[in-house]
Amino acid sequence: MKRDPGGLAAQEFDVLVIGAGAFGAAAAWDAALRGLNVALIDQGDFGAGASAECFKMVHGGIRYLQHADIRRLRSSCAERTALLRIAPHLVNPLPIAIPTYGHGRQGKAFLAAGMAAYDLLTLGRNAGIRDRSRHIAAMRLLSRHETLDLFPEIEQRALTGAAVFEDGQMYNTARLVLAFVQSAAARGAIVANYTQAVRFLWKGRRVCGVRARDLIGDEEFDIRAKLVLNAAGPWAEYLLQDKEHFGIHTRGHFSRDACFLVNRKPQSAYALAVPGFTKDSDAVVSRSARHLFAVPWRDCLLIGVWHRLFTERPDSAQVEEAELAAWMAEMNASYPALRLTREDVIYANCGLVPFGDSRTSTGDLSFGKESRYLDHRTQGIEGLVTLIGIRYTTARGDAAKALDLLLQQMPGAPGRAPTERVPLSGGDIADLSELRSAARRRAPEEISSGTLEAWLRNHGTNYQSLADLAQSAAEARRVANTDTVIAEVTHAVDQEMAVHLEDVVLRRTNMGSGSHPGPLALAEAAQRMQALLGWTDARRGAEIALTEGALAHHRASPPGTTA
Ligand SMILES: Cc1cc2nc3c(=O)[nH]c(=O)nc-3n(C[C@H](O)[C@H](O)[C@H](O)COP(=O)(O)OP(=O)(O)OC[C@H]3O[C@@H](n4cnc5c(N)ncnc54)[C@H](O)[C@@H]3O)c2cc1C
Repeated sequence: MKRDPGGLAAQEFDVLVIGAGAFGAAAAWDAALRGLNVALIDQGDFGAGASAECFKMVHGGIRYLQHADIRRLRSSCAERTALLRIAPHLVNPLPIAIPTYGHGRQGKAFLAAGMAAYDLLTLGRNAGIRDRSRHIAAMRLLSRHETLDLFPEIEQRALTGAAVFEDGQMYNTARLVLAFVQSAAARGAIVANYTQAVRFLWKGRRVCGVRARDLIGDEEFDIRAKLVLNAAGPWAEYLLQDKEHFGIHTRGHFSRDACFLVNRKPQSAYALAVPGFTKDSDAVVSRSARHLFAVPWRDCLLIGVWHRLFTERPDSAQVEEAELAAWMAEMNASYPALRLTREDVIYANCGLVPFGDSRTSTGDLSFGKESRYLDHRTQGIEGLVTLIGIRYTTARGDAAKALDLLLQQMPGAPGRAPTERVPLSGGDIADLSELRSAARRRAPEEISSGTLEAWLRNHGTNYQSLADLAQSAAEARRVANTDTVIAEVTHAVDQEMAVHLEDVVLRRTNMGSGSHPGPLALAEAAQRMQALLGWTDARRGAEIALTEGALAHHRASPPGTTA
C-alpha cells in the first residue's frame, strides 16, 4: 500500500468511506469485493480509534441468552464464525471459565442449562472453519478439583467447579483492521491514513464527496464520490454538525469503555469470569452483576471492561489514575488472589462506544445494543449513510448492512459480497500449525520462535515478505529488548503505509501494542524509519516524543520504571 493523496483527488469514486476503524475498513473491503470503485480515508492511522482499544473478545452472543434476545445471539455467533474463518491468524478460540457456587443462579445446573441451550441455538457455529483445532467447542463442566487446578486461588467456599464456554479472541485488533484495509487495497480501493474529511461536498441536497485535508502534506483537496459512508465511529456525528444541511443534530450517548493489561503470567489458557459490581439492568433471566474478565493475552492478563457515560470529544477520553485505583479495588474484591497493585498495570485502553438511548427503570442509560444507522434520506439528504458501530465483533456484518442501505441509491448496484467467507489478506490458511512448520523451515535460523509466532499471527501467509527481507542480517536483527526485528519496521513503512513511528510501534508490530518497549527500542526503530523516510534528526526526535506521548496516554511506562 502506497499513500497517494493525488489518486484520491483524480477521480470520482462509487463509494467513499470515511473512517478506517473496524467498521469503515470492513465496509471498504465489502464494497471493493462487490466490484465498486472505492476510497477509504482516516484522519489518523488505520485502526487507531476505538478499534485499537478493544478488549479483543469476539463475542458469540452467549450473553444475549440472559436478555432472551435470540436473534442477536445468532447474528453475533455468525459474526464470530465469519471472523474465525476469514482471519484465522488473527482470531482464535478462547475458553472462558465461570466458577460455579452452590445450587442457585451461580450453580452448575443453572449455568450448564444456559450454556447447553446456547450450544443448541448455535449448532452451525463452526461451519466452514477448515482447521478443527480452531473450532469453538461445546460447553463443558469442570469439577471442583479441575477448577482449582486451573485457578488455585479462587474463592473456595461453596465452590462446585466451573462451567466453560468458548468465544473468539483477537490477537491484534489494529492488525485485523489493517487486514481489511489491505484486502480492500488489493481489490483496487484507494486507501489513505492521515487524511481527514473536513466537510461534505454538496450538489443541492445530495452529498457528492468531501473536502479532505492531507495531514501529512498539509494540503486540502476534494474527494468526489457518488455515495459516501460516514463510518467515523464516535467522531461520526461531528461531521453532521452543520445546521444548514442537517439542522440541529444532537449527538447520541456514549460510554467510555476501558480495560487494562497486567504483567501477570496467566495461570492457564482459560479466561476467568468473575462477578463485578455493575448490574446488567437489561437482563431478564438474571439480574446479578455483570462479569469482569481476566483473560490471557500474549503472556499477560487483560482485565475489563468498565463503562462510564462520557460526553466530551472522543479524543479527550483517557484513563485517570483514580479510576485505575477503583477498578483494581473492584477486581481485587471480586478476585482477591490477584492482589493487583498499580505497578502490575502495564497498559490501559479506552475509547468511546455508543450507549443505548433508552433509560432503565433505575434511570440509568441502558447499554448500547445495536450499531446505529442513519439513512440521511429521512432528512431529505441523498448520497450519505452514517454508521456508528457498537461492537468490533459485528463490524463485518453491520458494514454490509450499511452498504446495502447506501447502495439503494445506486441503480443497478451489485448485491452482497461473500465477505463472511473470502479470506482476508494473509488469511487463506487451511491449518495454522502446518503454516507454522513451513515458516520455521523457511525463515532464517536467527529468527526466534517468539518473532516467528508474531509474524504468523500478525501477517498470516504474508509473513513470507518478512522472511524474504530477513535474509539480510541487518534486517533480521532484533529491535533492542523486543521480539520485533528490523524487517518488520522496514515492511511497515514500505508496504503498510506506516507514516509515524507511533504507527510502527503501537499498531504494525507487537513492540508497543501491549507495553512500553523501552527507550532503546524506540530509538532503534526511529533510526530505521529515519533512513527509510529521509527524516532529519529533529524529526526523528519529534517522532520519539510523539510515541512516548501515545504510550503515556496508555499509562505505559518504560520497563524498569515504576508505573
Ligand atoms: C475499552 C474497549 C473495549 C472494547 N471491547 C470490545 C470487545 O471485546 N469486543 C467487541 O466486539 N467490541 C469491543 N469494543 C467496541 C469496539 O472496539 C468498537 O465498537 C469498534 O472498534 C468501533 O469501530 P469503528 O470503526 O466504528 O470506530 P473507530 O475504531 O473509532 O474508527 C473510527 C475512525 O474514524 C476516524 N475518523 C474520525 N473522524 C474522521 C474524519 N473527519 N475524517 C476521517 N477519519 C475520521 C478515526 O480516526 C477512527 O480511526 C470495545 C471498545 C472499547 C473502547
